[in-house]
Amino acid sequence: MTRQPDVTIVGGGPAGSSLAIALGRAGARVVLYEKATFPRLKPCGEGLLPHGVAALERLIGVPDAPRVRGLRFSAGGETVDVDFPAGTGLVVRRDRLDTWLFTQARETAGVDVRVGTEFCGERGRVLVGADGTRSRFHRLLPAIPDRPRRVGLSTHVRGIAGVKDRVEVFFHDHGEIYVAPAGDGETLVAGLFDYRHFRRDGLRHLLGTLPGLRDRVEGFEQTTPMLASAPLGLRVPRIVDHERQLLLAGDAAGCPDPITGDGMALALSSTELAADAILTGRLGQYQSRRLARGRRARRLGRLMLWLSRTERRAAWFLRDFSGVVPLLLEVALEPGADPLRAK
Ligand SMILES: Cc1cc2nc3c(=O)[nH]c(=O)nc-3n(C[C@H](O)[C@H](O)[C@H](O)COP(=O)(O)OP(=O)(O)OC[C@H]3O[C@@H](n4cnc5c(N)ncnc54)[C@H](O)[C@@H]3O)c2cc1C
Repeated sequence: MTRQPDVTIVGGGPAGSSLAIALGRAGARVVLYEKATFPRLKPCGEGLLPHGVAALERLIGVPDAPRVRGLRFSAGGETVDVDFPAGTGLVVRRDRLDTWLFTQARETAGVDVRVGTEFCGERGRVLVGADGTRSRFHRLLPAIPDRPRRVGLSTHVRGIAGVKDRVEVFFHDHGEIYVAPAGDGETLVAGLFDYRHFRRDGLRHLLGTLPGLRDRVEGFEQTTPMLASAPLGLRVPRIVDHERQLLLAGDAAGCPDPITGDGMALALSSTELAADAILTGRLGQYQSRRLARGRRARRLGRLMLWLSRTERRAAWFLRDFSGVVPLLLEVALEPGADPLRAK
């Protein structure tokens, strides 16, 4: 007779795979379900902020991928460069990152993976929902999508000149567009749009029209399909069901609007909290700490969305408050501090 696993994890994205690794290493018996097969792409800006890189380094190391030293914000002809105050970020294609992490999970002692297999209900002592923004467990622990609703698009292209060691963020009237080095001569291009102004050809259109970009596009060749995702930001007020011994992790536990660039870093840097809670049985502690981190990221996201509501406002902020931009980045990267907390 086979013994029941200690922990069943549903979802083999960064949150689920990293948690499986942490638990397996601590001696737990884990079953990890992933309904897709790898490699698979996922709509994403693919930038991992330095605290996410540090969390990965602590857990398992980092995959081979382009490093970035900071960000470049542009709007209405204004441009501000900001370096990360400490460490470097990573731009890593999701087909590569997720395959790499899932493989590490599969190779971890105590972890049994069921790839290409949707979770059917058979579970261990603890059940973890790491199944993303459309988690099936939101039926039990409801989620509230952010407003205004936004839509994300992402793809990879060849043919954009001057993409170096920064993630470039261009603000326009209906959202932002992100350009970053993806390695092997490819460029990640992602866009976030107010859904009322969303158009399927939005990225291609903006690449051809935005100042600071249009002159750099030389024979745009798309190398991966255009992927879309909505809704983007999500709030989940309760992420633990004590009676069912169920907890949520990663995006399923709530995620800030991707304007913060913090989704993966939040998922990875919360892995230790989740693993510790499962191993010690202190699920309530996980709920309060993880929710506090999520609130902080969401507050930052709301501020960034307000500052960039129109291209004109974003340009005004970059021009008149360029000195505040590094401070905002520090807030985003320093999980302990919270100067944005409402008094
Ligand atoms: C347009 C866009 C841009 C973004 N840009 C960035 C960025 O630049 N930087 C950043 O850090 N974050 C970014 N994010 C956020 C980031 O993509 C997420 O925070 C991250 O993917 C969360 O990881 P996760 O493991 O929680 O969920 P996911 O990556 O969504 O993984 C969930 C997994 O669960 C599986 N699954 C679902 N249901 C089941 C089931 N029933 N049974 C088995 N498996 C199941 C899915 O197949 C999937 O593999 C962006 C998001 C979007 C939409």
